[in-house]
Amino acid sequence: MIKLNKTEAPEYLNDKTIECLTEQYKNTGKNVWNHEKIKDALLLSSSSKCAYCECKVNAESNYMEVEHFEDKGSNPDKVVIWENLLPSCKRCNGAKGTHNVLAEPIINPFVIDPKSHLGFKLYRLIDKTDVGKNTIDVLNLNHSERAVFKRFEIGEQVLSSISDAHDRYQAWLKGGKTTRSKNILVGGVEGLLLECQPFSSYSATAATVLHYESSYTELVETLKAERLWNDELERLHYTSLELVLECD
Ligand SMILES: [Zn+2]
Repeated sequence: MIKLNKTEAPEYLNDKTIECLTEQYKNTGKNVWNHEKIKDALLLSSSSKCAYCECKVNAESNYMEVEHFEDKGSNPDKVVIWENLLPSCKRCNGAKGTHNVLAEPIINPFVIDPKSHLGFKLYRLIDKTDVGKNTIDVLNLNHSERAVFKRFEIGEQVLSSISDAHDRYQAWLKGGKTTRSKNILVGGVEGLLLECQPFSSYSATAATVLHYESSYTELVETLKAERLWNDELERLHYTSLELVLECD
């Protein structure tokens, strides 16, 4: 989970529409929030990811659900209030169910930075606070198959990309430092860093694995010493650093 920034509310959600949809929901229980303009704006706010677990939700097999942070059953007046809506995967939305966030607060990543409440250990999230613990438990964020294994896969991918980058460095060094081998090396490192950006799936996991890995630190130092590190790599490096969860 990473800190997200909400886009402006879609124009569709003006005061009149909100009043009308809220009444309609109260009278009929209809899915009034299930509108393309609401869903598109939510997807834009989270780079098409679930706000909680960071899986991509724009695929046919895994579509986005509109999640009500304050449960719509208990708080029908907030059924289409922009600040109360989050993009969520089916799994997280289902796990959260009718949980009362006022009685037992959980992280709303559009409001608070998850880093303050969550840490990371062996691909499991660990709580740093009561809010962190509620979040992990309520959203079932340490479910072995659906959450921890996914993080493990991403972590393995990051470690493999770091190893590839070291191999490419050796090929550049031993092959006469050609432009071609330099471009392959720098392009590979850029690809690695792109896996760890806010728009990437499971970016908190990818960035945490990357920045805690000593062979990545060595790679950066080597590339800097060889004057292969550039401004774009520096920018991507620092953007990913912002997402890192504290490890035990
Ligand atoms: Zn999710």
